[in-house]
Amino acid sequence: SHSTEKPFAKDLSYLLSTEARSRNESPLKSAFKYYSQPDLVFLGGGLPLATYFPFNKVVAETALPPFQNGIGYVPTTKAETNVVKIEKRLDPNSDVKDIPLARSLQYGFTEGQPELVAFLKEHTQLVTNIPYQDWTLMANTGSTQAWDNVLRNFCNKGDSVLVEEFTFSSALEAANAQSLHTIPVKMDGFGIIPEELAKLLDSWNPDTPKPKLIYIIPTGQNPTGSSLSYERRKEIYKIIQKHDLILIEDEPYYFLQMDVYTRDLQKREQQRNMTVSHEEFINSLIPTFLSLDVDGRVIRFDSASKTLAPGSRLGWFIGQKRLLERFIRIQEVSAQAPCGFTSSIINGTLQRWGQKGFLDWLIGIRKVYSHNRNVTIDALNDYMPLEVVDFIPPIAGMFFTFNIDATKHPKFASEFNSEPLKVENAIYERALKQGCLMIPGSWFVSKGNTSPPQRYILDNDVQNPKIFFRGTYAAVPMDELVKGIKRFAEAIKLEFEL
Ligand code: PMP
Ligand code: PLP
Repeated sequence: SHSTEKPFAKDLSYLLSTEARSRNESPLKSAFKYYSQPDLVFLGGGLPLATYFPFNKVVAETALPPFQNGIGYVPTTKAETNVVKIEKRLDPNSDVKDIPLARSLQYGFTEGQPELVAFLKEHTQLVTNIPYQDWTLMANTGSTQAWDNVLRNFCNKGDSVLVEEFTFSSALEAANAQSLHTIPVKMDGFGIIPEELAKLLDSWNPDTPKPKLIYIIPTGQNPTGSSLSYERRKEIYKIIQKHDLILIEDEPYYFLQMDVYTRDLQKREQQRNMTVSHEEFINSLIPTFLSLDVDGRVIRFDSASKTLAPGSRLGWFIGQKRLLERFIRIQEVSAQAPCGFTSSIINGTLQRWGQKGFLDWLIGIRKVYSHNRNVTIDALNDYMPLEVVDFIPPIAGMFFTFNIDATKHPKFASEFNSEPLKVENAIYERALKQGCLMIPGSWFVSKGNTSPPQRYILDNDVQNPKIFFRGTYAAVPMDELVKGIKRFAEAIKLEFEL
């Protein structure tokens, strides 16, 4: 490893919020360093004795890597089954790095259980090369919590955070609830536009505090389904360096990167039958913002929600140690730690699958999503009225979107008063009557501005005649999906009298 030759991250702690600066270590935690001292009678902790936890053992079964029957396959024999059996106490003869229930179900390990954190760190090193040495990884209860904590740690009431023009609605709500302004950065079909970000920051109204934070969903973006190219990532990183911003990359869909869409069925068959090596898989991933982060100003959110299961409530922060320490302090007094059952079961599973097995699982997901995406885009091509509808096939994630040219609606200028959102609503209602629901793009719009306002946003805020809808190809069987798209296409044709 060359890690010792790497530089240290910059000290960016001056970007922390008042709340983050005022957090102290819980005084009880400071006593816990004596907990395992052998000659000390420790009566200091309010810990219930593990002997009286009712759970003596938990068992979790999965299929075995390399999942050659596909990730939906349920094993029918013992030989095909990966059995994870976690006991209350460690079996001294086992060489698997398990987390016994007596430990995982006890208080402690705010940053995550050491075996799990070590596995995830090793996984991180396989897929990305962080250019500074003092990075770390800390477990959390998912990206939803992670974002709430980020806002608390960097923002004061009335601050601005930069977000994509269309973004994850919960992320906007979390910011609104903390009295923050969510300032939109213009996007096209390939994510946020670096030149627009530069112009917004270069022309920032000096009468308002400059934003300290930008929130980006770089890969398989929610809602648009777009992915930022490596070129754009590099340009964006340079801009945030210049303006001294923290960049949050929220990447629940990062490993859901797919083959490029093709209508060439022969080529598609080739793609489907190709065995992808671990190395090829890793090399096919768009490099992370972390890999560009020479300063230590990126905080990455990873999540088990889309690769394993959302109810596991397990995610992890990656970033520089000095900043992540503030996240330990906030977790200490809120979630405390990820759930103990989750920690034991997911760690036990990953330890047995191994790093390669986990990559096999991710490759298996990519296969399923590539197929679903292909079925979706085929159906859009086959059924949508392409004289008013256009779309870009996604290369990552679980969302697809299609744009509709509202100006071509026969009643656009008359009944709808030339307002695209009225067309959007009419299509939404009509599609519901036809029996299909997709989410109108306007539900994801970020409309924030500062007071006094940023002129650049006002000048840019022209009524965009493009409206869009978001669907997913993750949630239903493929025949249902095609049925839904057909119905939605019918609704558009009826609305537009085509
Ligand atoms: N409130 C009080 C008064 C407590 O004594 C404790 C546990 N020591 C807690 C909250 C923490 O509870 P939990 O483990 O459910 O977060
Ligand atoms: N961030 C984005 C961009 C998402 O789309 C989602 C899922 O809906 C989340 C975060 C939530 O992730 P988690 O389940 O890890 O809290």
